[in-house]
Amino acid sequence: PPRATPSVVPTALEALEKVFGYDSFRGEQAAIIDTVIGGGDALVLMPTGGGKSLCYQIPALVREGTGVVISPLIALMQDQVDALTAVGVRAGFLNSTQDAGERSRVERAYLDGELDLLYLAPERLRVSSTAELLDRGTIALFAIDEAHCVSQWGHDFRPDYLQLSMLHERWPSVPRIALTATATEVTHKEIASKLQLGEARHFVSSFDRPNIQYRIEAKNQPMQQLLSLIRSEHAGDAGIVYCLSRASVEKTADFLVENGVTALPYHAGLDSRIRAANQSRFLREDGVVMVATIAFGMGIDKPDVRFVAHLDLPKSVEGYYQETGRAGRDGLPSTAWLAYGLQDVVQQRRMIQQSEGDDAFRRRLGANLDAMLALCETIECRRMQLLAYFGETSAPCMNCDTCLTPPEGVDGTIPAQKLLSTVVRLWREKQQRFGAGHIIDILVGKTTPRMTQYGHNQLRTFGIGSDLSEQEWRGVVRQMLAQGLLAVQGEYGTFAVTEASASVLDGSRPVKLRKEPERGAGRAAKKSK
Ligand code: ADP
Ligand code: ZN
Repeated sequence: PPRATPSVVPTALEALEKVFGYDSFRGEQAAIIDTVIGGGDALVLMPTGGGKSLCYQIPALVREGTGVVISPLIALMQDQVDALTAVGVRAGFLNSTQDAGERSRVERAYLDGELDLLYLAPERLRVSSTAELLDRGTIALFAIDEAHCVSQWGHDFRPDYLQLSMLHERWPSVPRIALTATATEVTHKEIASKLQLGEARHFVSSFDRPNIQYRIEAKNQPMQQLLSLIRSEHAGDAGIVYCLSRASVEKTADFLVENGVTALPYHAGLDSRIRAANQSRFLREDGVVMVATIAFGMGIDKPDVRFVAHLDLPKSVEGYYQETGRAGRDGLPSTAWLAYGLQDVVQQRRMIQQSEGDDAFRRRLGANLDAMLALCETIECRRMQLLAYFGETSAPCMNCDTCLTPPEGVDGTIPAQKLLSTVVRLWREKQQRFGAGHIIDILVGKTTPRMTQYGHNQLRTFGIGSDLSEQEWRGVVRQMLAQGLLAVQGEYGTFAVTEASASVLDGSRPVKLRKEPERGAGRAAKKSK
């Protein structure tokens, strides 16, 4: 119901009950809201679905003037404003998608004190007329949503966020609240310093999402694996499938559609109208599976996404956490599923090598990938490892694949030595480098045309690994790449030894490998719900 007399200022609790229809605050919401209402700055780290929006919406209703929300999510502003209008909150937005007429109507409403909330795209602040406009009205607070976009190291960097320190310089007495679902200490510090939030109170919530079941499995036939996940556990459910490339988005969406799944593609190469139409079908219809690149998802508020699947390895744990966090905002059981394989590691190591930027930048990318790989290869609770990455300690969750079907740790020193000595011999004796396929062929002793052409069937290591299957060898290679015991080189992703390899070859360093558990973790998982 629209508030009858906007001039009567509600208390925070009244706003919660009467406007939003909830009876109590969640977690730290009350403390955050009190801080901002009292004129203090706040830095809020809260997982997706934690309830960040109310943390600025309620203070905007309680304080005099308009709450100005800086948000990079231009495509969602209309939805956000519609949702607020529906509960009687007076909201508007200013961004580049509007025509002059719409813009001036919103500006008028702001100047007349008729807006509780004004959503602003960050690039609006580049033009001085925006600041002048804000000066002529009353600003209740600034909310900086998706504040991690200020981080130059992060995956969502927006250059326009860097100039947001001007808010504090120009309007020092207006309280600011910065919010993000990104949790690492580094990003946290970067937000505080770049946005000059030195005096802000920090509110850090637990990043655990207990209703999400984390599962990571080896990639064999990824699309079939995905289809069987959907059919056996998520038939008719809404979900998001992330792929690295536009081409694989298209291919995967087509494959799902051919197999009777309502799937839509989303990536930056699609016409913007198609993108908008697909996004809106995903939000409004039931049971739509969105197959997307990571261009999709930030700010998407769909509470009943039952699964998030990754067909390619995310570049960092932070990215993985963000993306999987879009599942189960409603608190109901949901699945975060990732299929990852040898090629993912090869491809990403190669991309890092060939990336532009200085050594420090590449090292940072490498460290991000290493942490992601450690999560994939762990034999311990995934959730523990994930939360540990964000500085939280926890106990085994009993609701992830490694808790439900514990993988075995096995001694992989001998296979590791066989693999490394093959790589070393090829280089020493023939000055040749090869990638996974051929090296595994040598190990299992497969006589291919290439084998005879190069005379590799004469190598001492030809066939010394026939005790393992090709599949098992792929697992060994993948894990050695993940552990930095094998390096990827050049444009073809051929293998070379690393500094650490020597200690494996001379036997001074044992190699621990993860033995893939029998498939069926999914079924076990389902029963336990
Ligand atoms: P975030 O922005 O942190 O991802 P939202 O602000 O979108 O989360 O909130 C997630 C969901 O939780 C929304 O549907 C919201 O209405 C609901 N919610 C937030 N706070 C409360 C509360 N105190 N009581 C009940 N539901 C809440
Ligand atoms: Zn667990």
